[in-house]
Amino acid sequence: MYVMMISSELAPVAKVGGLADVVFGLSRELEIRGNSVEIILPKYDRLWYDQIWGLCESYHNLIVPWGEGTIPCTVWFGFVHGRKVFFIEPHSEERFFERGTFYGEWDDATRFAFFCKAAMEFLLRSGKRPDVIHCHDWQTGLVPVLLYEMYQHPDMPHQRVCYTIHNFRHQGMTNDYVLWATGLGRVDYFTHQERLQDNFNQGALNMMKGGIVYSNFVSTVSPHHAWEVRFTDQSFGFGHTLHIHQEKFGGILNGIDYDVWNPEVDPLIAAHFDAETLEAKAGNAAALRHRLLLEEADKPIVAYVGRLDQQKGVHLVRHALFHALAHGAQFVLLGSSPEPDISDQFHQLRAFLADNPDCHLELGFSEQLAHLIYAGSDMVIVPSMYEPCGLTQMIGMRYGTIPIVRSVGGLADTVFDWDYSDRPADERNGFVFEHADFAAIEFALNRAIGLYRQSPNIWKTLQRQAMAYDYSWNKPGEHYLRIYEMIRRK
Ligand code: ADP
Repeated sequence: MYVMMISSELAPVAKVGGLADVVFGLSRELEIRGNSVEIILPKYDRLWYDQIWGLCESYHNLIVPWGEGTIPCTVWFGFVHGRKVFFIEPHSEERFFERGTFYGEWDDATRFAFFCKAAMEFLLRSGKRPDVIHCHDWQTGLVPVLLYEMYQHPDMPHQRVCYTIHNFRHQGMTNDYVLWATGLGRVDYFTHQERLQDNFNQGALNMMKGGIVYSNFVSTVSPHHAWEVRFTDQSFGFGHTLHIHQEKFGGILNGIDYDVWNPEVDPLIAAHFDAETLEAKAGNAAALRHRLLLEEADKPIVAYVGRLDQQKGVHLVRHALFHALAHGAQFVLLGSSPEPDISDQFHQLRAFLADNPDCHLELGFSEQLAHLIYAGSDMVIVPSMYEPCGLTQMIGMRYGTIPIVRSVGGLADTVFDWDYSDRPADERNGFVFEHADFAAIEFALNRAIGLYRQSPNIWKTLQRQAMAYDYSWNKPGEHYLRIYEMIRRK
């Protein structure tokens, strides 16, 4: 099968969060299974260019209709760790992808509406006719709209779209300017409850809604989150839309790339190990302490790696930090926040804790340090308010680093409490709490730190059980292929 991924992120060249990992890992798995996969990405100025091989011009003068004029684009081709990627570079005064950042610009909706339009024009002009177009999140929500309302007849009658929602909170709210600019036009037709009209703001268009309504299949990234968005407030207003489209909606658990995240060969960690040589993990703890200037001490290291935003339960992260320090643990944090308030808060916290030998806050993005933290820590916390899937708990487990998570979304599908799960004892792999309050996370942390201290052998058993889980792309890859086959037949 020929699959075209259209995405705003791809690890490691353009990574903000899990979306990037998913597009890379799933594409790789599909290729291993004998499919042909290509990826279309914006050519951001801040791509990690060292990680692209053989970058060359592939389509010199792609003329993309835009409003009453056109925007010429160059399409580049390069390999990203074996994946085949086309990068679209528009040449216009707006400099859509030359902003030094991926998201957070005032005209994000327009930037990515343009990306959708340019990607479709590229398929049309280059003669590429994938069996399935797989697009992701609000940034590519207009792709199926453009396909079915503009490009299908007569050029692309057989193409089908799978649309994956990684985060319902960011929906791409916009207005009829994008209809005019993309050439979709017909404002009354599209500003309709059954099409792109936002469910709450009748004057606004919602790009994610377009993705849901027009795609042949819509998935989110874990079965539990698929349930939450149907039946709780976690869909941020899409409950009714998903109810209408329930026949084509489901949850598929993300995987992690077992080659990228592999403690036996990971080039970014200090000591390699597996479930039988767990003692060697100590070499990573030592390297981590050395790199972050933590005291050499017989204390467990509790870690947080992730975006710092309300979704992630930053108030609980902060509380866990002080609680862990007060209960004989060390704490490391790697994260960054696009939200100025939260960013300021953590900068202040870092200054306040600057002299504490048991704690380090690294405020920024570092793939290398992330690997060392997963390998060198003993526990990783994920106290999210909502979490469509979550990768950090699965990555942690791969490195024998025990997750302590709130039981929401994909966290509930992947982590089973050591003391209280209804799973058999030999299938338990972490610590879980329900409520988003201080007492709940304290109790989970206490149990984890207590077990680590009092029963090192049992802790090792827990580590082995966590490492034994298969959270690779193997099963999800098969699942997506079944969906692709299903929508192709329609
Ligand atoms: P989300 O997609 O909501 O950001 P996920 O848990 O699905 O969260 O994925 C987060 C991914 O991003 C993981 O691979 C994690 O290691 C990585 N990550 C997040 N923040 C950072 C950071 N500051 N530095 C390095 N990697 C990070």
